[in-house]
Amino acid sequence: MQRDVRTFAKPSAMAKYIFVTGGVTSSLGKGIFAASLAKLLQSRGYRVTIQKFDPYINVDPGTLNPYEHGECYVTEDGAETDLDLGHYERFLNVPTSQANNVTTGRVYQYVISKEREGAYLGKTVQVIPHITDEIKRRMLLLGETGEYDIVITEIGGTIGDIEAQPFIETVRQIRWELEEHDTLICHLTLLPYLKSAKEIKTKPTQHSVKELQALGVMPDILVCRTEMPLSDELRKKLALFCNVERGSVIQALDVDTIYEVPLEMQKENLDTTVLRKLHLPGDKPSDLTKWNEFLHTLRNPRDTVRIGLVGKYIELQDAYKSIHEAFIHAGVANQVKVQVEPIHSEYIDEENVAEKLGQLHAVLVAPGFGHRGVEGKITAIRYVRENGIPFFGICLGLQCAVIEFARNVLGMKNAHSTEMDPDTPHPVIDMMEEQKKIVNKGGTMRLGAYRCELQSGSLAASLYGTTQISERHRHRYEFNNRYMTQFEEAGMTASGRNPDSGLVEVMEIPAHPFFIGVQYHPELKSTVENPHPLFVGLVRAALERKKKVAGIDLLATVRSA
Ligand code: GLN
Repeated sequence: MQRDVRTFAKPSAMAKYIFVTGGVTSSLGKGIFAASLAKLLQSRGYRVTIQKFDPYINVDPGTLNPYEHGECYVTEDGAETDLDLGHYERFLNVPTSQANNVTTGRVYQYVISKEREGAYLGKTVQVIPHITDEIKRRMLLLGETGEYDIVITEIGGTIGDIEAQPFIETVRQIRWELEEHDTLICHLTLLPYLKSAKEIKTKPTQHSVKELQALGVMPDILVCRTEMPLSDELRKKLALFCNVERGSVIQALDVDTIYEVPLEMQKENLDTTVLRKLHLPGDKPSDLTKWNEFLHTLRNPRDTVRIGLVGKYIELQDAYKSIHEAFIHAGVANQVKVQVEPIHSEYIDEENVAEKLGQLHAVLVAPGFGHRGVEGKITAIRYVRENGIPFFGICLGLQCAVIEFARNVLGMKNAHSTEMDPDTPHPVIDMMEEQKKIVNKGGTMRLGAYRCELQSGSLAASLYGTTQISERHRHRYEFNNRYMTQFEEAGMTASGRNPDSGLVEVMEIPAHPFFIGVQYHPELKSTVENPHPLFVGLVRAALERKKKVAGIDLLATVRSA
């Protein structure tokens, strides 16, 4: 007798699952879309989290060059993750964790290690069902904790990529296994505008939907990236050919700031449509008051400051994504526009440093690894230290400030970090003790949140407004405490330390208008609702610098008149 398994009652999931796929091209902003949708649902009272499934084989992006993959975002629990998780946190103001980012590599690593244990009892281990079962387990995991009403899963890559197929197959199975209104698929796509024909073209979208359907997955909502507004006619055509409701064709027009996207999506009734399709009550009106205030200030700055970002990956904005975003948040907190001036550290030298940095109101020296561009960072720091320009060093930026101080103030010729010069006579930055025995590169740095105690009365303590903080880390090297007395006597003090290990976390020069370096990554914790106090402080210091320089110029003009 033939049994129709589909007539069995399907279990209703604890949480609702929304999947976000992308078609036509990469870089359509799936992460921003997922974060915006999550923001809208959160604003209507739902507990939402977002996770990203990446199709590549690396176990995590920690070993990837920033040129390949942009910044590596570190979570509280020390996971090295995709930069989209940064968007999720900045939009939602809720921390993510290791569980929020899964790669094909991680899934295979787990399945293969189970196979080695003999867990599959002699079975042939295959993509279906073993890999897909493991993907499924991870896709459903956060929804089963009871902490969330809605889990949004962003699938990395573009529909049609071979490597993402097991993810799509898993989504198909999840949809088949759960109640119809427990899952939803939003397909993000591109509608190119052909100038010569003066027309928006729908064919690539139709093809990408067809491709999805061939994998057994039917999108519920079509989110259309477009330069031009969509006419009713076009929406109707898309709905008809892509098999979605008229109201489920969502226009996603290009906007000038990512922070506008949730509001644009709201105008398209995205949240209402999603709630209706998921059978979730939509009676609670959306509260985006703070978000709107943020946007209003962002659009109406009272002043502008120019802040240099000295780094070696500056060609690629994504390499310093969280720093750029933290500047936007801190700018709004100060009601100013922060104009970030990228400066390539490899090309800074004694001759050109004044020309490159002299007109800036503050300088941030970026994190990094390896030798390239380090001397330029050190030269930049000497210049800002000697000229009273506000300085903020992050991770390698702090380490370079320490090296600069050792060389030029303490007279330790060739002082260095043992990362760049293992034979330096003055290893002022040295590898952490527990790092020395580690051979593997992936996931082995000092990662994630650690406590830090700030010295009361320090610049750091005054900016944070407390002496007890916790910040996220990603490094192997540290300030060498053997040199502490010499540094402190010469005017560079350790104003923050880890209370358990004594590791230096913050250093500053109290005699300078604003000179602070941190071993951790404050940019990772800056959100729209909670701009980071150190960035806020730097922007304020930049504004003061601007006024001071203007005052000096004015004085000079008056004198020469
Ligand atoms: N390369 C340095 C270290 O490992 C700094 C790391 C960083 O800037 N994230 O300590």
